[in-house]
Amino acid sequence: MNPQMKSDSLIAVAGAGGFIGGHLVKHFLEKGFERIRAVDKRPFGQWYQLHPAAENLCLDCSSEQACIKVSEGASEVYNLAADMGGMGFIERFRVECLRSILINTHMIESAYRAGVQRYFYASSACVYNTQLQQDPNVRALKESDAYPAMAERGYGWEKLISEMFCQEYHAERGLQTFIARFHNVYGPFGTWDGGREKAPAAICRKVVEALETNSGGIEIWGDGRQSRSFMYIDDCVEGIDRITHCDALVATPVNLGSSELVTINELVDKVEKIAGVKLRRTYNLNAPRGVAGRNSDNTLIQQVLHWEPGTSLDAGLRATYDWILEQHEKRKKGLQVVA
Ligand code: NAD
Repeated sequence: MNPQMKSDSLIAVAGAGGFIGGHLVKHFLEKGFERIRAVDKRPFGQWYQLHPAAENLCLDCSSEQACIKVSEGASEVYNLAADMGGMGFIERFRVECLRSILINTHMIESAYRAGVQRYFYASSACVYNTQLQQDPNVRALKESDAYPAMAERGYGWEKLISEMFCQEYHAERGLQTFIARFHNVYGPFGTWDGGREKAPAAICRKVVEALETNSGGIEIWGDGRQSRSFMYIDDCVEGIDRITHCDALVATPVNLGSSELVTINELVDKVEKIAGVKLRRTYNLNAPRGVAGRNSDNTLIQQVLHWEPGTSLDAGLRATYDWILEQHEKRKKGLQVVA
């Protein structure tokens, strides 16, 4: 535990009704923190995880008043609230993505005014220069590759400018800010249907559906040769905690991702193996596919924290597949599911 923090110090998590935020609240509760303020704009019934031990608030953090309520009395603020999704969402809804700038702009100001000790911002690998990601055989991206800037349209630019807010609030006003660039997070209690889901969840769902309908086939977005790395949720949450409590990383964007690179075809191979099936593949070349290749260079995080995400894709996918299968079965029975 951070020495400045007591078990009754207040930790605020914005975006707590979402995938990573819900897991982060659980992580801090399990560590023994008694006062967690969990905030999201979704109605409570739609939160992926609602932890009764937390102070749960339904607030739209794009307003200044809401952010003041989030930060009031908090020792630490974690900003994971953003309008986001997989490639299907961020390529189509760029304005929605850009408007998340309001959240961090108000949140960091309110955190500063409230005198919080540490402020965490969830950035993304989408800040990286897209011109460095045009080949599936990519060299892994290191932190300096964000500049000269040519981020992903919409979503990536919002993340980059919000990072800059965090850096300047530290430089000019002394707020202790921490910035992690997440690379494709996946796991249970994440979006798996409805258009915002990312590749691992989408592929698990499609395999489950193919088994259900006996279709024998699966549609893959793009040519299947795009490469990515995928980080399991437990590593993400552990990494957020470690980064936010490392003084050497103040105002320093750091990659938080796995360096296990796979193509989308290889990802499908793995899910098929878990499900014990082989499917006929069709490739939708008109679907959103994102950059050709992207991987996380973990030199900085290893050097500073002597740690990096370590869950193998095989292990993480198995847990994710089992959870999605369970959700699918529940939905068939008419029970309420997280999606
Ligand atoms: P998510 O969509 O599951 O969670 C985000 C939550 O923010 C949602 O519950 C949403 O309702 C909430 N939110 C949106 N606008 C809000 C507002 N105005 N006020 C209050 N709440 C609001 O996404 P996630 O995967 O948990 O991502 C969390 C953070 O991590 C986001 O900032 C995202 O951009 C970043 N990130 C995620 C990934 C990933 O692979 N999941 C990768 C890179 C960066």
